[in-house]
Amino acid sequence: MSDLNTAMIEKYRSNFLKEVEANVEEGEWVKMCMQCGVCSGSCPLGKHWDHPPQEIFMMIRANKREEVLSTDSMWMCTSCYNCIARCPRGLPITHIMHGLAVYSKRLGLIQKKQPTAEFSQIFWDNLMKKGRVNELKLGLSMYFKDGFGQGVKNAMANQKLGQNMMKAKRMNAMEFFGGHSVKDLSGFQNMVKKAQEIEEGNLKDAK
Ligand code: SF4
Ligand code: SF4
Repeated sequence: MSDLNTAMIEKYRSNFLKEVEANVEEGEWVKMCMQCGVCSGSCPLGKHWDHPPQEIFMMIRANKREEVLSTDSMWMCTSCYNCIARCPRGLPITHIMHGLAVYSKRLGLIQKKQPTAEFSQIFWDNLMKKGRVNELKLGLSMYFKDGFGQGVKNAMANQKLGQNMMKAKRMNAMEFFGGHSVKDLSGFQNMVKKAQEIEEGNLKDAK
């Protein structure tokens, strides 16, 4: 268990709602949920998850900390915004779902092989190198993340897609050798580092 997770359990013992309100993006909205179920009924994917949004909000209020933070349901949200458009209480449901995903990652509670979390990390690492996404390297990183053999199979299966992206100039073979970076790369990296420090500081203050 990570030190941060232990500290948070200690600080918010038996009050998971308070922990969510203090540490999760838009978490202060959870208490406004009236459990009508419209969000879960509107979510195109929720029925395939362990816990659709309405259930997650009910579990937060019922203090089911471990179940909420270890489920991968919030990682499956595609940001379609159906739920937000229909919630009679105007909860920013999508943001809360993503906020919970980010918080569980910070606490070291996500499953190692959760595919969306894996993709997010690969995307982030790719973006941070040049300040912009290198589509070719992003695709290759995804194809080869489970080893060379699987990577070759993935690349063969998707070669048509790659060719079409090159034709549409969404991908350039020269990107393999580095690709463009933003004009002020170190400025960009410093800005992100500063934002991360501020966020980390906010979490420490919450301890
Ligand atoms: S639609 Fe809004 S009020 Fe209804 S269950 Fe979902 S979040 Fe709660
Ligand atoms: S934004 Fe996420 S939680 Fe809301 S309906 Fe779409 S997939 Fe479901």
